[in-house]
Amino acid sequence: MDTPFLASSLHTPNELTKDIRRVIFSEEELQRRVRELAGQISADYRGLDPLLVGVLRGVVFFMTDLMQAMTIPASLDFMAISRYDPQQKSKGAVRLTKDLEESVEGRHLIFVEDVVDTGLTLSYLLRVLKARTPASLEVCVLFDKSRHRLVDVPVKYKGFDLQDRFVVGYGLDYRGGYRHLPFVGELKPELLNLA
Ligand code: 5GP
Repeated sequence: MDTPFLASSLHTPNELTKDIRRVIFSEEELQRRVRELAGQISADYRGLDPLLVGVLRGVVFFMTDLMQAMTIPASLDFMAISRYDPQQKSKGAVRLTKDLEESVEGRHLIFVEDVVDTGLTLSYLLRVLKARTPASLEVCVLFDKSRHRLVDVPVKYKGFDLQDRFVVGYGLDYRGGYRHLPFVGELKPELLNLA
């Protein structure tokens, strides 16, 4: 259920939050679920020294909290791709603009993603990574918009299901802004121009 925006004193309206119509996931909900995921991953990957791989820039906030809550040795690396463009996404056009620094051959990879929507981005990046022969490759995603899926992608660790709505905060942006909101919410419709 949606959290009323003014329910938490932590979310006193300010210059950023005044643009938010509704909180979808509160800071507390996000942090609790991220700790649960970190617990599962720590149990599953004991002794395997996993490499967490993320795509800049949206996943940085989730990745940081996830890793800090993990209790086993692990490392991280990032890729970057061409920016999210709602008009392009159905065409699946993904351009790699920054590659990983580390070799993934023989490593246990956990691909960490903020949102899986159509799955096209993830599917492309998984193909790229698999070709580099890691020892294993699993996916951890914070938000799953499974109703929009165009290609099947194997999600092993999932934070939340997200309905058909565009959200910002906790790393997710609208035109580069709102990433540093500690919660995830919907923007006021008059501010959105997704057409
Ligand atoms: P896919 O290739 O799965 O359609 O695209 C996933 C990407 O779309 C995510 O990594 C994210 O950048 C973007 N995306 C999907 N839904 C949202 C959303 O609700 N808010 C924001 N800010 N980005 C989204």
